[in-house]
Amino acid sequence: MGKVYLIGAGPGAPDLLTLRAAEILRRAGVVFHDALVHPRTLDLAWRADKIAVGKRSGRHSTAQKFINKRLVDAARRYRVVARLKGGDPMLFGRAQEEIEALREAGIDFEIVPGVTAATAVAAELGVSLTRRGLARHVVFVTPRAASGARDNDWAASVLAADTAVIYMGAGLAEAISSELIRRGKPGETPLALVESATLPDRKALHGTLVELPELALKAGAGPAVVLLGEVLQDALVDRRRAAVDDIEASLKQA
Ligand code: SAH
Repeated sequence: MGKVYLIGAGPGAPDLLTLRAAEILRRAGVVFHDALVHPRTLDLAWRADKIAVGKRSGRHSTAQKFINKRLVDAARRYRVVARLKGGDPMLFGRAQEEIEALREAGIDFEIVPGVTAATAVAAELGVSLTRRGLARHVVFVTPRAASGARDNDWAASVLAADTAVIYMGAGLAEAISSELIRRGKPGETPLALVESATLPDRKALHGTLVELPELALKAGAGPAVVLLGEVLQDALVDRRRAAVDDIEASLKQA
């Protein structure tokens, strides 16, 4: 009987992987991976069979139950089974379903944490999510509910939080913005929409809550998080100042 490792692959850049993860991948006989895992990360698993079970919202994906079953089956055939997930496996990664399936089947498993999108984005922007004096709590939230999920007021937790990081929300920009404003969040709350953080095609768009739908139109198809809160105020002011400088420079040239 083999062992299954649920491994966080990090937010995108292949060198944001833990040493522990790399060592397990080198020993892996098979790797089941999400769509967004970098090819260079997969290369570390040089002798493993590689199986994409990627889930990208809106696109075809392998049903979760089927993934669970494949992990259980693989543990009967391979000594080291790696399940590579984007970011950290324990955040919005459906890890619990896989853990339950492995437990039920009596299969040994271990979780290896990874760098989650929220902290990767904070690093790229140079913005502390818990900046002293401004933010004492931060929520990681998604407005996207799984079918059959318990009712959950995601907006209430964003309203209560000093800093909010919204996962899987780029396609819901209009709904996020209008719902939060309707419930009393100021439209001028500073915000950033960051796409494909840590990857070469990354993009950071700064604005305010009321501008979120507009910003989302400028984003591409990569994974994106929305950061919201006063901690982003300085970044927003810097951006606007730079934009004004650009306009002035081009006016001078004209
Ligand atoms: N377990 C992952 C999250 C999976 S849900 C983690 O810990 O990061 C997928 C969502 O994560 C995407 O919709 C997006 O909101 C976010 N995400 C993942 N990678 C990202 C990246 N490189 N840049 C911005 N957001 C990212």
